[in-house]
Amino acid sequence: LLELRQVTKQFGETTVLHPTDLQVERGEVVCVIGPSGSGKSTLLRCVNFIAPPTTGTIVFDGEEYRPPKDHRWIPALGIPEEQRLTRLRTQVGMVFQQFNVFPHLTVRENVALGLRKTCGLGKKAADARAVEELGKVGMAEKAAAYPEQLSGGQKQRVAIARALALEPKLMLFDEATSALDPELVGGVLQIMRDLAAGGMTMMVVTHEMRFAMDVADRVIFMDRGGIVEQGTPEQFKSPQHERTRAFLKSIN
Ligand code: ATP
Ligand code: MG
Repeated sequence: LLELRQVTKQFGETTVLHPTDLQVERGEVVCVIGPSGSGKSTLLRCVNFIAPPTTGTIVFDGEEYRPPKDHRWIPALGIPEEQRLTRLRTQVGMVFQQFNVFPHLTVRENVALGLRKTCGLGKKAADARAVEELGKVGMAEKAAAYPEQLSGGQKQRVAIARALALEPKLMLFDEATSALDPELVGGVLQIMRDLAAGGMTMMVVTHEMRFAMDVADRVIFMDRGGIVEQGTPEQFKSPQHERTRAFLKSIN
């Protein structure tokens, strides 16, 4: 479903993602772990072009995407590149650590907005779909509430429902439970477990090793802007690299 070919990310002179190759199959759950500043968020943000790679190619669902400086190389498909990227971002849902729901919109409006803007649904249809999606994450009865009236866990459920409403083919989770009170973490992780069990392709940056070990088909360890080691959860019980061992020890 997804392939990264020699993808890099630089900020000015600093390289925060060294040339990275990666493939993610349909239905695969990939958990990304690693120390702070190792480039985990950068990797995810490159995948959906929220932060376009500096160099390299991303192939998603058979379509190639290249950095802005290379846009002239892309064979004209009859639609502007920005429109293609909007479609990419619709097909790749993302949930962040800081629940970014719109504070001035109700829960239902938060979910309906994307349905109206990107799927072209009318207000009534979008509202109905939104409530349906909210039901799937146990938030239907809060449809009329504003985000400030919700707990962190509830806001995160809304963010997940909003992404899922657009029927993404890939879901990216960037430490979706890190900002939650401990008692709220389990509920959000359960939704992610259910999604994985339902066959959703997912890339999950997480510090929850139990979750990673249970749910991941593959675990990736990143350090200093690169993938150091990857393998099944079973293989991560006896890591090959000293840096991986040191990191796993440090978080246990
Ligand atoms: P954390 O676990 O703390 O979230 P991370 O692994 O997600 O860390 P990234 O956020 O990807 O790390 O950051 C990787 C490196 O890129 C860091 O050194 C960071 O300072 C740098 N970086 C990230 N965004 C920018 C930016 N917009 N401008 C300059 N440097 C950046
Ligand atoms: Mg991060």
